[in-house]
Amino acid sequence: AKSAGGNRFERADPEADARAITRHGLTTALPAALDRGEFFIEYQPLVHLGDGSVHGAEALVRWCHPQHGVLGPDRFIPLAEHTGLIVPLGRWVLQEAVRQARFWQRRHSDGGPLRINVNLSPTQLHHPNLVADTVDVLERSGLEPAALCLEVTESALIGADEDLLKPLRQLAEMGVDIALDDFGTGYSNLANLRRLPVSILKLDRSFTQGMQQHPADPVDLKIVEGIVSLAHSLELAVTVEGVETGAQAEQLRELGCDTAQGWYYARPGAPDRIHALLLADAV
Ligand code: C2E
Ligand code: CA
Ligand code: CA
Ligand code: CA
Repeated sequence: AKSAGGNRFERADPEADARAITRHGLTTALPAALDRGEFFIEYQPLVHLGDGSVHGAEALVRWCHPQHGVLGPDRFIPLAEHTGLIVPLGRWVLQEAVRQARFWQRRHSDGGPLRINVNLSPTQLHHPNLVADTVDVLERSGLEPAALCLEVTESALIGADEDLLKPLRQLAEMGVDIALDDFGTGYSNLANLRRLPVSILKLDRSFTQGMQQHPADPVDLKIVEGIVSLAHSLELAVTVEGVETGAQAEQLRELGCDTAQGWYYARPGAPDRIHALLLADAV
């Protein structure tokens, strides 16, 4: 039994110990996993709320672990962040996702400019090679910078100084979109938004969840309405995450959100899935 308030060295919590052992094992296995190609990317479509057409896709990394099976990013991204492996892993994700986006564009040249969203973690943001690596990946793939969107969490930019913002500013000047991910969870100063080289707000899933109830919570509706109008007055586009029902999609469309992502449209999946959606859209 657990001894509440007891000496922490005498604690008996086999589950916590097992978790710690697994965490340690996963951490030490990360570098070899990258060498062996155990990571893969799933893509989740982003759609225009107006007509449901495909706007782009977000790249979401997974680890196919030889013993534990497929692990989601929440299991290993924090570990990779901690050890710094996130830098080569993130570079691999960027390169792979950009290559994939270019491939889709070639196959659907009449399908308009398909966009690819890639997540950046705080360590990548601080890395001196961020701009050079990104430029290099884009040039080698032939993807135009305007087709790339880098997603940075709101919390990673809270209190950010000019030194941290400079690389993002450079990327934005090249035409790369910067999205503020998980927006609304970080208690950031809204006035601060003007200072950031950001062109897209990704409204956190918690807001969409508040719209699940029938009728939706009127306070949630007011908050989303306020955020959308503020965003639009700053010329930022609004993407909503975690849309799971048609009713939510309709509600968010009425509130003026621009694009959406969620299980209602598609779960993250293999690249073929995006290809099929693009084909369907073209008809
Ligand atoms: P995120 O960037 O907020 O990504 C959205 C997450 O919501 C994804 O979880 C996605 O599968 C999930 N999701 C999408 N639609 C729905 C929905 O309708 N309902 C619900 N309940 N969930 C939905 P996932 O794939 O487990 O990724 C978790 C987080 O891991 C991501 O959150 C992102 O912060 C991070 N991540 C994923 N790939 C990368 C990467 O390549 N680099 C970095 N640095 N972080 C990554
Ligand atoms: Ca994201
Ligand atoms: Ca998010
Ligand atoms: Ca999230």
